[in-house]
Amino acid sequence: MTGTVPDPLPGWLTAARRVTVLSGAGISTDSGIPDYRGPNGVWTRDPDAEKLVTLSYYVADPDIRRRAWLMRRDMGAMDVRPNAGHAALVDLERQGRLRALVTQNVDGLHQAAGSDPAQVVEIHGTVHEVECLGCRARTTMQEALDRVAAGEPDPPCRACGGILKSATISFGQLLDPDVIDAAGAAARDCDVLLAVGTSLQVHPAAGLVDVAVRHGARVVVVNAEPTPYDDVADLVVREPIGPALPRLVAAG
Ligand SMILES: [Zn+2]
Repeated sequence: MTGTVPDPLPGWLTAARRVTVLSGAGISTDSGIPDYRGPNGVWTRDPDAEKLVTLSYYVADPDIRRRAWLMRRDMGAMDVRPNAGHAALVDLERQGRLRALVTQNVDGLHQAAGSDPAQVVEIHGTVHEVECLGCRARTTMQEALDRVAAGEPDPPCRACGGILKSATISFGQLLDPDVIDAAGAAARDCDVLLAVGTSLQVHPAAGLVDVAVRHGARVVVVNAEPTPYDDVADLVVREPIGPALPRLVAAG
């Protein structure tokens, strides 16, 4: 039956040895993180909030930057922990069956759960680091937030005086070509592409499914809502991710 995890699992899934995972906001909602940037995300629906994460406004307006730092401070104070979905993907890696973990999420919860940071490809960057828009120097988010707390409402880069921003991809900001190359390579070189908690409506993530299919991979979609790729998927699961994912990646 479409929508539930089959029991037993299909042989092609238990036999898969190079699984590329593509994760989206849905895997982190059980950890209390709202969907910020999806088609129905917080930022997408609120034009005022969207300015905080739009590069042109951020660069042009010191007041936007001050508000963005306060938003980061508040988000940093949230107590977020990885959940059963993240843990299931750690298990997949420990089975030796993970090719790569490509994520649209910027929350770092895959690494917090125990996924090898070298296996995690963060196509939208990370909130745990800060990057200078001038010289590209990086520091930790904590260091920048400490400066905000100490009275710098918009701390400048210590190396060049440039504008600092969370090391995430803002709207209007180019993706990192090296990161996108790594994601594309993982999509080309997998026997199963497992898309979890992503609506598959935002590129480049959605295009990775096309790449995987063209290279002969099977596709599994785990998402509460229908996606544009359900028709090409070999398996579609609509159950909640927390209980479904451990069963889907169980060793054969
Ligand atoms: Zn700089």
